[in-house]
Amino acid sequence: MRIAVIDSRAKIVRGAEALDVAEASRGRFGPDALSLYEQWDAFSSWASSADLGPGVPFDPEACQSPVPAPRQIFGIGLNYRAHQIESGLPAPVEPLVFAKFVSSVAGPTGDLVLFTEEVDWEVEAAVVMGREARFVTESDAWSYVAGVTAAQDYSARDVQMRPAGTPQFSLGKSFPGYTRLGPVLVTPDEFDDPDDIALSCSVNGVLVQSSSTADLIFSVSQLIAYVSGILPLLPGDVILTGTPSGVALGMKPPKYLRPGDQIVSTVGDQVQRHTAVANQRI
Ligand code: ZN
Repeated sequence: MRIAVIDSRAKIVRGAEALDVAEASRGRFGPDALSLYEQWDAFSSWASSADLGPGVPFDPEACQSPVPAPRQIFGIGLNYRAHQIESGLPAPVEPLVFAKFVSSVAGPTGDLVLFTEEVDWEVEAAVVMGREARFVTESDAWSYVAGVTAAQDYSARDVQMRPAGTPQFSLGKSFPGYTRLGPVLVTPDEFDDPDDIALSCSVNGVLVQSSSTADLIFSVSQLIAYVSGILPLLPGDVILTGTPSGVALGMKPPKYLRPGDQIVSTVGDQVQRHTAVANQRI
């Protein structure tokens, strides 16, 4: 099953058609997407058994984040070996977890404002929780996941690396629009192997990142077990699982985004397209 949010309403996507969840369920579920994740077991069993009827054609460009307002967003740093090496930072011995704040969430298309001179790309697979998870074992972890969505963890490296010596990643990755999610949430059963999802990023038509979640240092299951051992993961919470090598930071010299750059990111068959634009505030 695939879930999208269009016009701020949760939809079930089937091919080129979208079905409004609140209308189809006569108000039992939706239209707020977060409410689906809070009732994920009941919603998915309804969705798989109900006679949903036809949807209506939709414009993929109209898709917003499939989780418009998650209560918690976790980023994972240095979770692919080659990216850890290019970053010049030591290899993590346990997951390196940081927060991305909810005001940074935006959809899979549109402009990306360059708030600093050192904005970088990070394509990632993100998992969205479908049940509250606390002290979850690795073997059970995937059963707590509603689905996977494409993500871009845009990062202002200059702010991310402050203060020198003890960098705090969260603010540099939380400018408005720097957490791009969507276009759809794909349930784990739709993947041949949910632990082997291809992801890529190209900038101005040049492929810069290409990998698979099979190369993660800490797998999705390990991340959920680790984080849920510290705090409860709530329905709708998002974990961005880390980015592979090929970011601007790793280039010599770094080639950060400039106005007009076109960033195309893929996770599985999902595609995000962003255009970098100058910050108009000054
Ligand atoms: Zn990241």
